[in-house]
Amino acid sequence: MAVSEVDTRVPFVDLEPANGPVRQAILDEIRDLTRSGRFVNGPQVAEFERAFAAFCGVEHCVGVSSGIDALRLSLEAIGLERGEEVAVPAHTFAATFAAVLHADGVPVPVDIGESDYCIDLHAISESVRFVVPVHLYGQMADMSSVAYSGQAVVEDACQSHGATRDGLRAGSVGAAGAFSFYPSKNLGAWGDAGAVVTDDADLAERIRLLREHGQASKYRHDLAGYTARLDTLQAIVLRRKLELLAVHNEQRRAAAARYEQELSGLGDLRLPPVPSRSNPVWHLYVIRTSDRDGLREHLAEREIQTGLHYPEPPHLAPAFAGLGYARGDFPVAETLAQECLSLPMFAGISEEQLETVCAAVGEYLG
Ligand SMILES: *Cc1c(COP(=O)(O)O)cnc(C)c1O
Repeated sequence: MAVSEVDTRVPFVDLEPANGPVRQAILDEIRDLTRSGRFVNGPQVAEFERAFAAFCGVEHCVGVSSGIDALRLSLEAIGLERGEEVAVPAHTFAATFAAVLHADGVPVPVDIGESDYCIDLHAISESVRFVVPVHLYGQMADMSSVAYSGQAVVEDACQSHGATRDGLRAGSVGAAGAFSFYPSKNLGAWGDAGAVVTDDADLAERIRLLREHGQASKYRHDLAGYTARLDTLQAIVLRRKLELLAVHNEQRRAAAARYEQELSGLGDLRLPPVPSRSNPVWHLYVIRTSDRDGLREHLAEREIQTGLHYPEPPHLAPAFAGLGYARGDFPVAETLAQECLSLPMFAGISEEQLETVCAAVGEYLG
């Protein structure tokens, strides 16, 4: 067992159990890379892209620099034009909103449902041509109706590597699926990284151009592009860690099952909803209680770290004030923001750590 460097009793996230077993193999490959000097592109990127496309059950994967770039480049590549509306859930990480703005679109928030905390795809006005559903906390939005909706869909799958619902796999349903490999995501790089997956060869090609100065070949510029490639070094890390992703997701599922078993029925606590035929990957384990701040304080006193995802819905953030929304516009999202508390959750969280958390929550609410 590798020794954790984190010094609190139960950290919110400890990446060591996932990184430790593959560290040496990755470092060996990185050493070879530094000798070759081929720090950009190269076979390591293509190899990871092939493996991640297969993992998602799609034809193409284009590695990019981050999750927000995966979203922005996907929206640009599917033909979003300046000022066009894009439906987004009212409860998400701010990057979902920001990516739409960066692609010159207008985010149109839609409230979330209580049954999965995701956007209600049926509630979207037909005049909106684009939708970015977010598979929040590792739980997929209900994508079963998407094929018939006529809207162009870019899935924000940044929290749901490997999640399924109704037999559909996160990232594989819409025109494109955007992933983040931020270090603490279910598949985490050693820095920033992301990817777009799609079955559409033309779309994949446009994103390949956009990520690298719009170049089809050296100095032939077909589009005004960006520097938004997946680092070769991160591709090495991700290729190795992808081999363990299914195991890591099972460890998260086991931890979630333990939480559910130990915490159900305590006070006014509400455990995460899991719709039937859904198999989430538990990026986060988010509970709700009216006394969220009190519980958080109680856990902190016992050296148990927690998180808030997210304390403020994007429509109330200064960054998006220009969209013109106010408190009260999206009541389900706003209430969740006040009540949510994310318990420690990571691949390799120990029995003892889970027991410590459950006992402390029970002590406060029991
Ligand atoms: C992490 C995340 C992003 C952004 O990913 P980065 O790699 O940090 O740019 C976007 N959307 C959601 C829902 C996320 O969780």
